[in-house]
Amino acid sequence: MTALGCMRSTRLALGILAILGAVGCGAPADEDGSGSGAGPTGPTAPPGPVTPPAPLPITTWVDLEDGTMPLVLIAPHGGDLAPADLPDRTCTGCVTGNDTNTRALALAIAAAFELRVNRRPFLVVNRLQRRKFDGNRELVEATGGHLPLEAFWNLYQARIDSAVAGARRVHPRALVIDLHGHGHAVPRLEIGYLTSASSLRLADSLLGPMVAQSSVGGLHRAAASGDSGVVLLRGPRALGSRFRALGFPAVPSDVDPAPLVGQDYFNGGYNTSRRGSVSGGAVDAIQIETHYTGVRDTPDNRFAFAEATVTALLAYLQDHYGWRPL
Ligand SMILES: [Zn+2]
Repeated sequence: MTALGCMRSTRLALGILAILGAVGCGAPADEDGSGSGAGPTGPTAPPGPVTPPAPLPITTWVDLEDGTMPLVLIAPHGGDLAPADLPDRTCTGCVTGNDTNTRALALAIAAAFELRVNRRPFLVVNRLQRRKFDGNRELVEATGGHLPLEAFWNLYQARIDSAVAGARRVHPRALVIDLHGHGHAVPRLEIGYLTSASSLRLADSLLGPMVAQSSVGGLHRAAASGDSGVVLLRGPRALGSRFRALGFPAVPSDVDPAPLVGQDYFNGGYNTSRRGSVSGGAVDAIQIETHYTGVRDTPDNRFAFAEATVTALLAYLQDHYGWRPL
């Protein structure tokens, strides 16, 4: 569903609400006892004070933890809250299913960093369920066109901006990881750099120059390791290869360079596009789509995956960013 289509659906919904609202507005004169049946010559009740709606508790809908390393971890689709006064997103084509247990997974990863190296990533976790708000979409699709939610979308984006700025105060170059869960047939991590599956299937000589337009385009030009081009996506020090070596299959990686034709693959969404270094800059972004079984299904498996993530990302940060915990 395009944002435009979503907007059209929303406008239609708002129009219907406006009509219903106009009908409903005739009733309260009786309900508040102001004089049922008062005719044209009866006294006119003075308008009572208008009680503004209570502000939405938007600050409680996002977990934010300041970090102490050049890493920002976002979990947009694992929210646990569904306030009854927020309408469900109904725009045609909008995805409303949660990425199960990804909030718990993000919290486990942050805790594992602290236990291992006494450093924490900056953490931004959307608490709202995806049927209420999508934390990986532009404004209209994210809110389903529900205008009062705009303030939360702005707050959520500001929280990410603040986390990124904090990460860059730790180190000049920073990495954003956008953590998700997929239900595709192949149980492997899908590492998203905004590079399509068909592009990943190209020969190295053709794919290499395209990495400059990926979400690690800035790293392609400035990695401390000297890695660039295809090597950043599926060389031995690529993130997917690090996970693969730790027992978590991943694509792209050294042994699984690209999804085959017909295989599903997520290559990155709004957050990866907005936060990555497609146009250069000192902040890169990578989307990690996790499979369910063995990664996020049980507390033990989440703990094991969190441990592997710490190992993989510490190596990645040292290799390509020249950063390591003291
Ligand atoms: Zn997701």
